[in-house]
Amino acid sequence: MGLEEKIPSGFLLSTVEQMAGLARKSSIFPATFGLACCAIEMMTTGAGRYDLARFGMEVFRGSPRQADLMIVAGRVSQKMAPVLRQVYDQMANPKWVISMGVCASSGGMFNNYAIVQGVDHVVPVDIYLPGCPPRPEMLMDAIIKLHAKIREEKIGVNREEAAREAEEAALNA
Ligand code: SF4
Repeated sequence: MGLEEKIPSGFLLSTVEQMAGLARKSSIFPATFGLACCAIEMMTTGAGRYDLARFGMEVFRGSPRQADLMIVAGRVSQKMAPVLRQVYDQMANPKWVISMGVCASSGGMFNNYAIVQGVDHVVPVDIYLPGCPPRPEMLMDAIIKLHAKIREEKIGVNREEAAREAEEAALNA
């Protein structure tokens, strides 16, 4: 019997996906992008005491084209929203977003006309992190949860399209 008959159908593909997931989650490059007070905690997380390098992601990239993780650290003003979207659009695919703190996730205490009431109005969000501000341990926990999500992702799926389809299916259900 040839090797192909011994291997169950789809075995090789799932192994490649697992390897890709492992490689992706182990080499995330966050964009250098802070908006308000939450950014101070994000910077602390990248410093020596918390040592993000343990998770393969100590390098915050200056160019969005070299980054695949956006940590939205702080409230998003209406003026900043198009800039944030442009940075997101310039990032390499596949890419992920962590909404750090209540202001980024929902506007927080800034329930007014100047602040976007949730960054998910501007970019798709993978992880919502509560707190004002979230401590570095909480950001690291969010990153580890994102790692688990990335490991399960399928290769070649357009995440924005898939999210749109899921949203439409939920609306039509
Ligand atoms: Fe600042 Fe708190 Fe808002 Fe973060 S959640 S940007 S720490 S006010």
